[in-house]
Amino acid sequence: MSIPTMPKDLETVNLNDNAKVVLEKRYYRKDESGNPKETAQELFWRVASVIAAEEDKYSSSPYAKKGTLAHDFYSLMTSYKFLPNSPTLMNAGTSLGQLAACFVLPVGDSMEEIFDAVKNAALIHKSGGGTGFSFSRLRQKDAVVGSTGGVASGPLSFLKIFNTATEQVKQGGTRRGANMGILRVDHPDILEFISAKERDGELNNFNLSVALTERFMQAVEKDEDYELRAPHSGEVIETLSAREVFLLLVNKAWESGDPGIVFIDRINRDNPTPDQGEIESTNPCGEQPLLPYEACNLGSINLAELCSFDKDGCVEVDWNEFERVIRLSVRFLDNVIDASRYPLDSIADTVRKNRKIGLGIMGFADLLYRLRIPYDSQEALGLAEKIMEFMRDVSRAASHDLAIERGPFPAYETSIFPKQNIGPLRNATTTTIAPTGTLSIIAGCSSGVEPLFALSFARYVMDGEKLVEVNPFFEEALKEQGLWSEKLMALIEQKGSIAQIEHLPAELRRVFVTAMDIKPDAHLKMQAAFQKFTDNAVSKTVNLPSEATRQDIFDIYWAAYELGCKGVTVYRDGCKAIQVLCTGDSK
Ligand code: UDP
Repeated sequence: MSIPTMPKDLETVNLNDNAKVVLEKRYYRKDESGNPKETAQELFWRVASVIAAEEDKYSSSPYAKKGTLAHDFYSLMTSYKFLPNSPTLMNAGTSLGQLAACFVLPVGDSMEEIFDAVKNAALIHKSGGGTGFSFSRLRQKDAVVGSTGGVASGPLSFLKIFNTATEQVKQGGTRRGANMGILRVDHPDILEFISAKERDGELNNFNLSVALTERFMQAVEKDEDYELRAPHSGEVIETLSAREVFLLLVNKAWESGDPGIVFIDRINRDNPTPDQGEIESTNPCGEQPLLPYEACNLGSINLAELCSFDKDGCVEVDWNEFERVIRLSVRFLDNVIDASRYPLDSIADTVRKNRKIGLGIMGFADLLYRLRIPYDSQEALGLAEKIMEFMRDVSRAASHDLAIERGPFPAYETSIFPKQNIGPLRNATTTTIAPTGTLSIIAGCSSGVEPLFALSFARYVMDGEKLVEVNPFFEEALKEQGLWSEKLMALIEQKGSIAQIEHLPAELRRVFVTAMDIKPDAHLKMQAAFQKFTDNAVSKTVNLPSEATRQDIFDIYWAAYELGCKGVTVYRDGCKAIQVLCTGDSK
């Protein structure tokens, strides 16, 4: 594919040290001997120009005659105000051309359908995408198989095949395949599923989540039994105490962090295109519920770069600039749908009918540091809601403008929107909050809407490479107050947090909180605040100290249900042998 010539006067790109490592390892195009054959400038130009070229199809575009869009996209990315998800950065303008991070594939109850899904997942992983599957349609273990008279081996045995296949693909030089495996709580094999990851390393390429129904949650509340039904016949196989199953879920999450939970009926209540089918799974990190054969491309706006300054420094969000960035990002992501080549025709068809995009944010914790607002405060929750409401409203308005320019998404007429009187939309969803695991490293900001894991820490990424990071806004505050010293920095690298360093000023310790200083219910409230205005879901981990109890997890799960979250993931410090992020104390 030809890439428009790079203008000679293009701005240079500032790369932080970690970004250099990450881009070189996985993002730059490589020659036959594996050496990078592009620079950061060329990478961002490749992406900007290829995505802008899609605009030429639309004669009604305000950019059609100006020819400035590629440059605008380039500046949007190189200012680190916005980055598209990793597959777009890696594959735009390449022969692979697959640009979306998230996919959901159906798994039908037949050998053909199961192994089709294995093959399709391998193709998606090769292109850098992650896959989610519901295994709920597979008949339970020991059910009769009509054609052979034998017995079925059940969802768990097939899950292992998907896991092994993922292990072997290793994403052909891009990244390792990530998977989500979901089973409904009323599937007869649910108990085995809940305990599937109890041994460390088991099903290592999967996140598992149990799909909890509204009926199940009510049965837990009333302490009633509920029925497990054979998926292929509807026959009641067993009845279980809902509360006991819920407690087992809590117990396993306490032991290993897995499985997570998703509130599947709530997800479907927000399905914008119910006539296209039911949502049965999310992508691997849980933030993107999708229909079978649907994919979604994500992008994230970096709030750390959107400050409005006065003489005291950063005092507000720069709302005008935020609006400009949201509008341009929505155009970018809508163009990505057209530019992307999908591994299967059925995926291309579903994606182009609904045209979902997932614009989210990163650098939220950095913004709070800059504004001197503690993450676990009412003020932070208020700001989170204000930011996300603004983002939802502006991204919808931008999608509406695109619908006027280019037409609404093809399934619009039968979607939920005509009844809501908000006018045509180009995209069935516009907002998703992604983890931004790698994007945040490239942009040098805090990830997604998470608090900082530590103020200074070693990050082990991609094959164990060690990257040391000190939060720049924290370091700046220390220097401003004349507190910086090598001795102090070494202590902070050891501890990760300053909560217990009592000779530091109380105000500093209150503002510069980290994930482990924040109480679990404050994590959850933040997730709920963002979820309130997010079309899809919010990637958020509720961090717990290692001494947290099962009751703490029970309370979090219950609060997630009551606060309107779409799912929840907990992580108790030290419950997994391998941690991606480590402070000195937890190594
Ligand atoms: N993802 C994946 N493999 C990975 C990391 C991410 O398939 O190693 C997919 C997955 O669907 C995840 C989504 O990309 O939910 C977004 O993850 P993240 O925001 O961390 O990705 P980034 O764009 O920062 O690389």
